[in-house]
Amino acid sequence: MAAQETVDHKYVYDFAEGNMDLKDLLGGKGANLAEMTNLGLPVPPGFTITTEACKAYLATGEEPDGLAGQIAAHLSSLESAMGKRLGDPQDPLLVSVRSGAKFSMPGMMETVLNVGLNDRSVVGLSAQAGGNDRFAWDSYRRLIQMFGKTVCEVPGEEFEHALDDAKRAKGTTNDLDLDAEDLRGLVDSYKKIFSKHTGREFPQEPREQLDLAIRAVFESWNADRAVLYRRQERIPADLGTAVNVVAMVFGNLGPDSGTGVAFTRDPGSGAQGIYGDYLANAQGEDVVAGIRNTVPLQELEQLDKKSYDQLLAFMARLEEHYKDLCDIEFTIERGKLWMLQTRVGKRTAAAAFVIAGQLVDEGLIDLDEALHRVNGAQLAQLMFPRFQLDHEFQPVAKGIGASPGAASGKVVFTSARAVELAGEGESVILVRRETNPDDLNGMIASKGILTSRGGKTSHAAVVARGMGKTCVSGADELEVNVPAKKFTVAGQTVTEGDIVSIDGTTGKVYLGEVPVMPSEVVQYFEGSVDPEHIDNALVRAVHRIMTHADATRRLAVRTNADTGADAARARRFGAEGIGLCRTEHMFLGDRRELVERLILARTDDERDGALAALLPLQRADFEEIFREMDGLPVTVRLIDPPLHEFLPPLEQLAVNVAVAQERGEDVAKEEALLAAVRRMHEENPMLGLRGVRLGLVIPGLFAMQVRAIAEAAVTVARGGAVAKPEIMVPLVGAVQELETVRAEAEKIIAEVVRDSGVEVLIGTMIEVPRAALTAGQIAEAAQFFSFGTNDLTQMAWGFSRDDVEGAFFWRYLELGIFGISPFESIDRDGVGRLVRIAAEEGRAARPGLKLGVCGEHGGDPDSVHFFHEVGLDYVSCSPFRVPVARLEAGRAVIETDGSDSR
Ligand code: PEP
Ligand code: MG
Repeated sequence: MAAQETVDHKYVYDFAEGNMDLKDLLGGKGANLAEMTNLGLPVPPGFTITTEACKAYLATGEEPDGLAGQIAAHLSSLESAMGKRLGDPQDPLLVSVRSGAKFSMPGMMETVLNVGLNDRSVVGLSAQAGGNDRFAWDSYRRLIQMFGKTVCEVPGEEFEHALDDAKRAKGTTNDLDLDAEDLRGLVDSYKKIFSKHTGREFPQEPREQLDLAIRAVFESWNADRAVLYRRQERIPADLGTAVNVVAMVFGNLGPDSGTGVAFTRDPGSGAQGIYGDYLANAQGEDVVAGIRNTVPLQELEQLDKKSYDQLLAFMARLEEHYKDLCDIEFTIERGKLWMLQTRVGKRTAAAAFVIAGQLVDEGLIDLDEALHRVNGAQLAQLMFPRFQLDHEFQPVAKGIGASPGAASGKVVFTSARAVELAGEGESVILVRRETNPDDLNGMIASKGILTSRGGKTSHAAVVARGMGKTCVSGADELEVNVPAKKFTVAGQTVTEGDIVSIDGTTGKVYLGEVPVMPSEVVQYFEGSVDPEHIDNALVRAVHRIMTHADATRRLAVRTNADTGADAARARRFGAEGIGLCRTEHMFLGDRRELVERLILARTDDERDGALAALLPLQRADFEEIFREMDGLPVTVRLIDPPLHEFLPPLEQLAVNVAVAQERGEDVAKEEALLAAVRRMHEENPMLGLRGVRLGLVIPGLFAMQVRAIAEAAVTVARGGAVAKPEIMVPLVGAVQELETVRAEAEKIIAEVVRDSGVEVLIGTMIEVPRAALTAGQIAEAAQFFSFGTNDLTQMAWGFSRDDVEGAFFWRYLELGIFGISPFESIDRDGVGRLVRIAAEEGRAARPGLKLGVCGEHGGDPDSVHFFHEVGLDYVSCSPFRVPVARLEAGRAVIETDGSDSR
């Protein structure tokens, strides 16, 4: 007995052994098949080979020890359950071999159906199907085709050409017109193609077919398109796929059979009802491939009322069980309904909000859960504009609104051309009859996708929705001719490069460019919708969830704004102050000349003159912003950017001077300017004379700004508003820098504010790694810290902010050195560690030290969660991202702290 206890690692689970929480191990499909089996729904029997087996296989190129035996044992129970044997010549059991990773990757990996058919069992299958020879030979030719393409890399077109030839010989374009004899002939042709490419006969041994198909599914995890899809969707590369081996049921046994896809709510809008597509007398892949046009699911009621009613009952059961929108694949085999797959369905951004709101109303979930189920990326999508349509624009075609949004662009017909034109900065619309997984690159590059075939569940629709890309599918008035690079519609011909506009909500297609209008969600945030009387389901859901996010979040949300108009807009979007007012923007435009005078001044008088001229201008800037932000804190950062941004470009100036000299013109002034610009030229201006360094080098510059801030605050306060200025010193690396600036600033402030009641705080940015590492010292001199994560990322990594993203980030992303640019989402391990250290040491030195972040990361969903975890007081981001940050700050509480700790 003792020896027996060293059992093999368990690599295979019967459906009855799994459940929906085992997605890591069984993949989404396998876990949900197990869950449905345990709910008692009619799932064809089968088993799942785990992702661990896949990972072991991919690591060594060999099936792990014990796997073959476990498969044999489970296959044998499957055979007993079905009362048939795999590939039995009289009464064969056939199985499908399907991929299924933890996260759904539609169409990216492989499936092989009808495994177990061979020259002998095809006869048994026909007998089993009541002498339906046509069905049996059609199933066999599908196996050879799928197996050849997937397992043995036989070029798929060869099979398609052979099928076309068979149809041509028969004088038809419809597969269904091919009879049993034609299909038997096709099987012969397919076998020849198979042996020509593989140098061997099509395998007749069923277990060999099964093992090879399982290997092929394992390997498809690393297929190019799967790798690309994972990168796009940020799915980790090391998860592996599970493999489901399932007893085949057939939707192509005649008119009383069929296959379909159903959604428990509309995945486009979230509306309640019955949504889906059905295709009679077909196998599952026909629906997803969009090869034949489907009928709406409701029509099944007429075709097969019993199955339809049963399906609706199962859908209701699943929704109640999963407490969410479910999508379902089913097959009807001669009037018997089989559930082939379910999962919590992908949905558009609008549907995500609407459904979360509905489920709260229905008492299925609470508001915390509703908040958890939506996200900032979805909210950002809803803030995109839509088409502005008036009588000038008539649609030329109407397809299915497969993925919402509005997109205009140049028509392209191939994925390669889409990538090429997009690379040149063009907006493109990819137009195809239908897309397939090889079009993924082109879909990523396009603004929108338009197809003439396929329904809401076609490849184009599913993938576009997942990417949040506008898509119109099944616009069958379009005659698409890919080789000729044109399509015709409504008597007009559209060729490559012409502009079209597509509306992914209504499915309408327009020729030319249609102007766009803002989203209703933005209008709601702008305050033009009365929250008490919202008749739009989406806006109502957004209002409700945002209200809950605001009540839940601990982080405050401020905005980065440098003008009164931006400040006002951000305030309407919910900003609770300004976290960064970049004053350098106030020095550009027609004030540039004054700044030039200041920087190039050779005497104190020249410099003081320029400063005196700038003072009232700056004061007016700040007054406007303080008024807009009445009662809320406003962090004004003293001037920061590199010097070269204020001076004329060196090369240009040198050329101008040389040309003028050549012409014999008087260039004394320009020469002096050129000499000064040369003197101040820096090889590395980002790391040069900027920020606090500039303030310490040019006497009076910071003093002028501090005075302008304090005077503006006093003026605004006297006018009855509440100004709460916070002066922020940029690029500090040592406490001594801050102390020097602070000593001078405090004197000016004391002199200006006197008894006005205005309080001015003085703090610093933490954006130089040394500042983060000496935060304890710096906190002694700072009333607040604001993390400048743009510079902190630049200096922690040694990446030039302005250069690296274009220069080599693509390669770093490709190699997986990072999954996303560290300028976009905070690098938790490195830059994040500096933030953590500074927050902890700063607060240890000065309890209650106010902490915020004003780098771009302040509006990035993942980074907001990190800043919540680290315990910052606020994030600050651009006005448009304020609602996203509010939502994510609420979600961070639920996801980080758990709902009980509030
Ligand atoms: C930062 O560095 O993160 C920051 C907010 O400052 P700026 O982007 O202006 O350098
Ligand atoms: Mg900075």
